[in-house]
Amino acid sequence: MSARSVAASPEFDPRAVRAEFPILDQLVEGKPLVYLDNAASTQKPEAVIEAIAHYYRHDHSNVHRGAHALADRATAAFEQARSDVAAFLGGAKREEIIFTRGTTESINLVANSWGRTQLGPGDEILLTEMEHHANIVPWQMVAEATGAVIRVAPVLDNGELDFVAWTALLGERTRLVAMTEVSNTLGTVNPVAEVVQRAHAVGAVVLIDGAQAVNHFPVDVLALEADFYVFSGHKLFGPTGVGVLYGREALLEAMPPWQGGGEMIERVSFSAGTTYTGLPWKFEAGTPHIAGVIGLGAAIRWLDGLDRAAAARHEQALLERVDTALAGMSDVTRVGVAPGKVAVASFLLAGSHPSDVGMLLDQQGMAVRTGHHCTMPLMDRYGIPGTVRASFSLYNTFDEVDRFIEGLDKVRSFL
Ligand code: PMP
Repeated sequence: MSARSVAASPEFDPRAVRAEFPILDQLVEGKPLVYLDNAASTQKPEAVIEAIAHYYRHDHSNVHRGAHALADRATAAFEQARSDVAAFLGGAKREEIIFTRGTTESINLVANSWGRTQLGPGDEILLTEMEHHANIVPWQMVAEATGAVIRVAPVLDNGELDFVAWTALLGERTRLVAMTEVSNTLGTVNPVAEVVQRAHAVGAVVLIDGAQAVNHFPVDVLALEADFYVFSGHKLFGPTGVGVLYGREALLEAMPPWQGGGEMIERVSFSAGTTYTGLPWKFEAGTPHIAGVIGLGAAIRWLDGLDRAAAARHEQALLERVDTALAGMSDVTRVGVAPGKVAVASFLLAGSHPSDVGMLLDQQGMAVRTGHHCTMPLMDRYGIPGTVRASFSLYNTFDEVDRFIEGLDKVRSFL
């Protein structure tokens, strides 16, 4: 099937989907915006914008506490989103869905609550060279506090995880495996199902960072048997400031709360001490990002209405087109060419700094990201300061790929 015929497919029309995203319909530097920074954050469909506006126009109140109509409506909408997320992750229990500020906070929650109580001197945390800083720094902090040791599995030249080396690093001292399902810099899709099985065989607990996975393909945390799975709303067509921690009920039950305050208590007393409420609220101290959670629920329902397999095929066709073009350019070095990767094209243009390329593309109305992409150890591994990263989503078009390639030609003429 050619790239063009995928675009014309009646089952998935990227132009119709695109029309639901008002922000994409604008000029930048006098030219139609080409938004290729989707790995940093995706744009929001009308359904999400409207859900948030509707909530503030009609239903806003604090949740879980008021005995009045608005409080009931806000609580119902908030808790409906929890059910939507549970279903989205393949049928998790509502109690297993904790709302956080995002992937970063979800990982910090696990590191602080599970990590600080379960890890001790000499225990090993197994990471990879391609982790985002959000899946490195919280573990470094917990390692420093507990005496645990961090092991790092290498990445092969093509951007694949060195699975042989990873397996060799896994052992009976490994207590925690944390791995990204999809690399934000390389697009590599890691074999997380195999990772979970092998980690469980040595008794390790597994956290999967799904920040870059959930918007590209469906995820089933039960089939995956992940212990923890985390993602952010804003990379999934939802709002910023909201994210999810999925945790297996038995693990979450055994973990202490990490933040104290309202909403997470059963009874507070100076004389008799404080007792905590159950899951999921035990981990949701304070007033949550109610509008954000409702917006995330709307994003998930919007995504559920699409043919996701067809959307994924469209993204792959976009990737094939851009990768073919980049591979044919003698002055381009692609960083991350693992088979089966998602639609992320990271590269260097000879004789230029990534930030200059980004600036010259911006002048043509094109948004890409440049720099280390919060993966400094990965940059060190390749011996580069950063890359230019064009990351695609289901609303991007073949015309945009072509404009991007033409844009690179123009960049060359300025260098
Ligand atoms: N992990 C990965 C793989 C990411 O791409 C990102 C965001 N770039 C994060 C974690 C952190 O997500 P957030 O900033 O939304 O917490």
